[in-house]
Amino acid sequence: MALTFDDGPSSALTPSFLTSLAKRGVPATFFVVGQRVAASPALVRRAARAGHVVGNHSYAHENLLFLTDAGIRSTLRRTATAIRSAGVTPSALMRPPYGAVDDRVRRVAGELGLTSVLWDVDPRDWEFGDAATIARRVLGALHPHGSNVVLLHDGVARSSITLQALPAIVREARARGYCFARLGPGGRPTPPVPAVSVPDTVVREGDPGSPTTLRFTLRLDRPTSRRVSVRVRTASVSAVTGDDFTRVVRRVRFPVGVVRRSVAVSVRGDRIDEARERMRLRLDRGRRLTIADARATGTIRDNDPRPNLDIRDASVVEPLEGRPWSRCG
Ligand code: ZN
Repeated sequence: MALTFDDGPSSALTPSFLTSLAKRGVPATFFVVGQRVAASPALVRRAARAGHVVGNHSYAHENLLFLTDAGIRSTLRRTATAIRSAGVTPSALMRPPYGAVDDRVRRVAGELGLTSVLWDVDPRDWEFGDAATIARRVLGALHPHGSNVVLLHDGVARSSITLQALPAIVREARARGYCFARLGPGGRPTPPVPAVSVPDTVVREGDPGSPTTLRFTLRLDRPTSRRVSVRVRTASVSAVTGDDFTRVVRRVRFPVGVVRRSVAVSVRGDRIDEARERMRLRLDRGRRLTIADARATGTIRDNDPRPNLDIRDASVVEPLEGRPWSRCG
């Protein structure tokens, strides 16, 4: 499902909408009014930087059916210019004020590269009803596997009530299995597909009996609007599974809105002087994400003293007894 907010930005309320959406990891689409963008360009920037889509809702909320072709072009172009002046690339989406659209308006908008987008769910938040009522209207109109584009307003007199309805809409819709998406280029809800990456990491080997931890940090390049996951597993390179570190095979899940998860690999200490040892963390079987880094290297730095090569020095020879000889051959 896709939440869309019309008629902003509003300096009074849009910041609160952005905060509420960010807190819940919900991406949305804002259909902005050009003259309001010119008055509050920072708000449009903030929305775009938070990953929301910014669409065109005309310059002064005109009914496009009453404008000439030139008038339609003018109001849509001025709005696009205001959005660009705010430092934001406008999407190719246009929502006609009042939903007033016909073939002529669609054609003129289309000549400017804009797709006209309406909605599937209209709780009439701008008109009447308290927060609970607005939430109930939205939730009652959702259809599983439907498009579920929801019309809401962040820039009208009653928008503070819409803001109050937002937590229940998000909570209840998620409880029913819906995930939130921005509108894609065709005006359809399109969940973001994040890419996961994992940088190399280093740990200093601990003393015998006091294991240390190699900590890999998996990062998503954007917040998710649905749970995504990837499988991780450790692999030997010069460091050997079971001897130098404990095997890890598990699925790492990113809940909604979370962009970082860490994977801990327990490293065993020994008292042998060795070159730096390396192991790998491999990523595969991604669900609803793409894998930017399929593997990362974990380096275990040795902290042991250089050995005294005098064979009579038992303190050097002794720890070797526990080592797998296959590795030394
Ligand atoms: Zn409107």
